[in-house]
Amino acid sequence: MANDWLLGRHALITGGGTGIGASAATHLHAAGAKISLLGRRMEPLQRTASIVGGKAISCDVTDRDAIARSFDEAREANGPISFLIVNAGIGDSAPFGRTTREAWDRIIATNLSAAFDCAQLGLPDLLAGEDSRLVFIASVAGLRGAAYAAPYAASKHGLIGLMRSMAVEFAQSNMTVNAICPAFVDTPMVDESAERIASVSRRSQDEARQSLAAMNRHGKLIHPDGVATMILTLCLPQSRDVNGAALTIDGGTTA
Ligand code: NDP
Repeated sequence: MANDWLLGRHALITGGGTGIGASAATHLHAAGAKISLLGRRMEPLQRTASIVGGKAISCDVTDRDAIARSFDEAREANGPISFLIVNAGIGDSAPFGRTTREAWDRIIATNLSAAFDCAQLGLPDLLAGEDSRLVFIASVAGLRGAAYAAPYAASKHGLIGLMRSMAVEFAQSNMTVNAICPAFVDTPMVDESAERIASVSRRSQDEARQSLAAMNRHGKLIHPDGVATMILTLCLPQSRDVNGAALTIDGGTTA
């Protein structure tokens, strides 16, 4: 459904080649937005870009200069950024005692410091625009602890803190700042988790996926389109009063 409000406005999505990011691209494109997709691998970016007619830009979001260059490239193609979807993220799992400092640094750099850089570098466009949106993809692990995933949970708690602080500081601006907090979603990230579980247990990959689904209270993996629909909803003008929210999509997991 094309929406006059979104028509021709620029949505930039980090981690836009796969999973939640790719689904968000499809939904925002269907509503009329122009799409820029950032990620490290060109192949998935180009695959998604070919569906949504978007601009694919290879960018490692842990490199602030690369983000700045990529945002400029995206603006050149699609104009000032109206909707910034900070979605790129990585996960890992290990018992806390065996979690390496390297894993901590890598996860904090990707999930939290890069989100700070993206938000700051996108801010001039968002503040200059009318009814702009900054959406962080956090996690239920941003709202409560996660065993065997301390760096991931810490990064997502930090992201919620960043989101809330920005929402308060810019409450009277034209921009809203929100986070979406899904439980386990059926994306390549869960495929990788299932692979990891299978490699260190006697479970098959299928059984490992089932065990992840069982950790969601409704016993199912969340569909990425549900998260994308929430992103699209936040971008609508009717959502202008939703600010500073950590919106769960978790089948009742945190209820
Ligand atoms: P995916 O693995 O499909 O998506 C993650 C995306 O981030 C990939 O496209 C990846 O592309 C990109 N990315 C990772 N590191 C970097 C980097 N350094 N620079 C640029 N891009 C990067 O999984 P999801 O769609 O599930 O993940 C999207 C977000 O949703 C993440 O923030 C994740 O934490 C969050 N989330 C996911 C849940 C789940 O169960 N799947 C649950 C709750 C939250 P590339 O590798 O090419 O760079």
